[in-house]
Amino acid sequence: MSARLLVLPLADLADAARAPEVAFAALDTVWFQLTGTVCNIACRHCFITCGPKETRVPMMSGAQVRATLDEAARLGTREYYFTGGEPMLHPEFWELCEAALAQGPLTVLTNGILINDAAAARAAELFGRARYSFDLRVSLDGMTAEENDPVRGRGTFDSIIAGIRALAQHGLSPSLTVVEHAAGMSVSTARAQFLDFARALGLAHPRVKFLPLLRIGREERRTHGYRDDELDCLQQPLDPVVVENLVCSSSRLVTANGVMTCPILLDAPDARLGQTLGETLHPISLRWSACRTCVVDGLSCRT
Ligand code: SF4
Ligand code: SF4
Repeated sequence: MSARLLVLPLADLADAARAPEVAFAALDTVWFQLTGTVCNIACRHCFITCGPKETRVPMMSGAQVRATLDEAARLGTREYYFTGGEPMLHPEFWELCEAALAQGPLTVLTNGILINDAAAARAAELFGRARYSFDLRVSLDGMTAEENDPVRGRGTFDSIIAGIRALAQHGLSPSLTVVEHAAGMSVSTARAQFLDFARALGLAHPRVKFLPLLRIGREERRTHGYRDDELDCLQQPLDPVVVENLVCSSSRLVTANGVMTCPILLDAPDARLGQTLGETLHPISLRWSACRTCVVDGLSCRT
């Protein structure tokens, strides 16, 4: 792997040996880190520190993606996600979407900035003829430039909105993902306002997903990392309901450098589980501070 990998502060768990174990149920979902850490913007809250010059995790080759799709099909995978960085920067982006859609539903996580009329038309055409569902998730961190641009970069709000409108004009209704980068962003009134906002952009079936902050990567520098007392929940067994909902209990992330536990721990060397999917379908213990956000999201730590 790259010598420039960042190392997450693993020692922040008081006792890594007591980290709770997560059984592996089945490989329902495979994520592809399609463009590694290469992105067309450099958000201040990016938990995997992506950007235009961030090449520490390289793009996957088309051959790697196709080989992984073959292996995933043999292992019974049911759905696929393309993420990055910005996956639309991949030179074979559309061809790889077709390849994934030939064998299962595909969701693409994008910042929307590269979606112009031609890209929206191509997405709509693919959506119309794909055998499986094709979904786009566009990141937007506010209903105004004043809310969004301080974290995503100057001018990004207008670009993202243009991308969403282009998709809407071609009959597509992407879901919007909003990171809770400021207090109060996901209270129920704000959620309702965001849905109205999405509808006003022309989305026929507005969907808005709020994401809690992951306090690693650039976000750790923007605000702060995890406090010691927040990690007590990773020193005791987990409720089975919590485990069932963890990404790492039923999926893996494939990168150009190997297979990782999940899309969150891209920069944690010890979250790399193997070179092929087949090597990685085993239990893991949650010894990374970022696991706190997964475990506690929507649920309290058991005492
Ligand atoms: S948060 Fe997404 S859009 Fe922003 S820099 Fe990271 S990968 Fe790129
Ligand atoms: S951050 Fe931890 S709990 Fe969350 S999906 Fe990854 S390994 Fe699982």
